[in-house]
Amino acid sequence: MIHRFPNYYKEFSCIADKCEATCCAGWQIVVDEDSLKQYKKVTGPFKQRIKDGVDFKEGVFYQNQGKRCAFLNEQNLCDMYTALGEDSFCETCRRYPRHIEEFENIREFTLSASCPEAARILLSQKEPVQFYEVEMEADEEEFDDYDPLVYEKLLEARGEMLKLLQNRSIPVKERAAALWDFIQIFQEEMDEGTLFADDTIYEKLIPRNPKTSYEEAKALFALLHNLEFLADDWEDTLNEAEELLYGKGAKDYEEIKTNFAVWKYTNFPNWDIMAEQLLVYFIITYSCGAVYDEYVASKVKMSVCSMFYIEELAMAQWMKNGGSLTFAEFTKIVYRYSRELEHSDENLITMDRMMEEI
Ligand code: SF4
Repeated sequence: MIHRFPNYYKEFSCIADKCEATCCAGWQIVVDEDSLKQYKKVTGPFKQRIKDGVDFKEGVFYQNQGKRCAFLNEQNLCDMYTALGEDSFCETCRRYPRHIEEFENIREFTLSASCPEAARILLSQKEPVQFYEVEMEADEEEFDDYDPLVYEKLLEARGEMLKLLQNRSIPVKERAAALWDFIQIFQEEMDEGTLFADDTIYEKLIPRNPKTSYEEAKALFALLHNLEFLADDWEDTLNEAEELLYGKGAKDYEEIKTNFAVWKYTNFPNWDIMAEQLLVYFIITYSCGAVYDEYVASKVKMSVCSMFYIEELAMAQWMKNGGSLTFAEFTKIVYRYSRELEHSDENLITMDRMMEEI
């Protein structure tokens, strides 16, 4: 069994009570069977707390006001951890923000950008992200609907896309546009069964300067309203951004974009590197998952669109601030966006379907 990691993986360490957006609030924490069994055996003073905090029927932790986990105390520390130690953590809590994608004999690990500290680490990477592999002993697993040849092809395509994505001699938007065009051809050939015979497929990864019109940007952004909202204030954030960016028409939008571009490259010389790291993150996390449904175009397009959404939200925040944006604010946009999209299976499915349509 091969375990594959991005090179920054080991930089992560939970900042616990210093975290500005704890992962123990805002969504339902699902508890695995083994942990439920373990919780049933707890004796002593913490027994009643377990009874009050664990919904054994639904296999989740109860939530208090603000969707806070029943074990999260006022100091944003976990009372279960304090009383019973780290071994008491259920799989979700033990693992987060480590995200695992499973393939036959391969596990790919990433750090979810929905965690503020993981997002900070990701955005702070200056060099192109590399991946390393560790051979682990494990029983060989077989997956239904898994075609190793398709996986190999997806992996090869991902490698080629990453090579282009990390080519810093090309503006990041042109690299993203190359992926957008290429993956549609790749998908067509996959659907028609001609992909494996096409030796020139990677020659179709051609950078181009994308021009997103006001109407296109507005329509693309509006798609976010089709997702379920996890945070109570997310819909307000979207509405506010739309008003700031698109509220005054095409001419103003173009002017905002031009001014923001000048500002961001002056104040964030690493802007394109941050955009590259985000694109790499989304491509790595999702593109090979197409081995299970063979819809790789929607996943790559979702990655490119995610970069677009994050930039638009950043531009709106910059406007709201009167022409400024801090790294902390940008990081917050990234982890909030990631939470909304990546912490809802329903949203990932809806996004996948929407991306098939565009
Ligand atoms: S979101 Fe990340 S840094 Fe914050 S408490 Fe959770 S794991 Fe720790």
